[in-house]
Amino acid sequence: MSARVLDGKAVADQIRAETAPGVAAFTERAGRPPGLGIVLVGDDPASEIYVRAKLKSAADAGLRADLERLPATAALDQVIAIVDRLNRSDAHDGILVQSPLPAAMGDDAEQRVFEVVSPEKDVDGFHPVNVGRLVQNRATLAACTPSGIVEMLERSGVTIAGARAVVIGRSDIVGKPMALLLLHRHATVTMCHSRTPELPTVAAEADILVSAIGRPAFVTADFVKPGATVIDVGTTQVRDRATIERLFPPGSKRHEAFLKRGSLVVGDVHPGVADVAGALSPVPGGVGPLTIALLLRNTVTAARLRAIKTAAC
Ligand code: NAP
Repeated sequence: MSARVLDGKAVADQIRAETAPGVAAFTERAGRPPGLGIVLVGDDPASEIYVRAKLKSAADAGLRADLERLPATAALDQVIAIVDRLNRSDAHDGILVQSPLPAAMGDDAEQRVFEVVSPEKDVDGFHPVNVGRLVQNRATLAACTPSGIVEMLERSGVTIAGARAVVIGRSDIVGKPMALLLLHRHATVTMCHSRTPELPTVAAEADILVSAIGRPAFVTADFVKPGATVIDVGTTQVRDRATIERLFPPGSKRHEAFLKRGSLVVGDVHPGVADVAGALSPVPGGVGPLTIALLLRNTVTAARLRAIKTAAC
């Protein structure tokens, strides 16, 4: 069997096209486009790439997108001061602080920053108020990556209601909101993590298996029930040639890409899973483009809701 490829880019293009009329209508009514402020701290190469892609996509969609940069040596208070300024800005409807923040800022730095972002501008859906609303299945700005995955599943005809779903990874930004979104769509959800015993056996119960752990090719064919839908969230930069050659044979497209760049972004899911799964989201071209499309959609939603609130005041 060779799994059906779930084309995240095509779904992302659809979502962007659906968002375009909302951008145009808001811009005409408000006399300005929806605005997004992105805060980037330090010089993590992966974050640079993600932020550049977000800025370009926002500009292409007709949004205003501003980048606020701080050096890796910046203090947490400086990040909070920028967020505070964006909270008060009339031109910005959405605020995104790119993670990870530099390790030197401390273990709880991200949580402290996410708490400062105004919930109505929290287009990442990480503020405790928005997380609480998600837990209660009330309308909210929900985390972009898991929301994008739900869009991909639904638009690809994968039935969530009644399915057994297993989510590997319990982060606040992917694993937990993913499990909640699937639960609210009536899947029976199991969450797994680094202390889950017999992980392959638990994972193999899933009709829908989502892996968000950041371990290249960790999810092998024995984790997967034949015919299951497998969503690969992981994105790890791999520079080790031997690892790449174990996964992608010389002459393959992925191997060629590695030779050209000297590194390759590899998902959590082993290529051999394609022989067992019924449907599979690829890396790249799966979850990544959806995350950005949902960010744009959340920004337009935030802009519209803020405008309604202002008009009602
Ligand atoms: P994270 O905060 O590091 O969390 C990783 C999770 O994986 C943790 O819950 C951890 O368990 C679990 N884990 C680690 N090793 C494991 C193992 N051997 N067995 C079972 N569970 C294990 O990561 P994240 O921010 O959620 O991101 C996960 C991956 O998704 C990363 O590769 C990231 O780059 C990628 N990502 C991609 C997108 C996209 O748009 N494509 C967006 C977001 C994230 P414990 O809690 O027990 O430590």
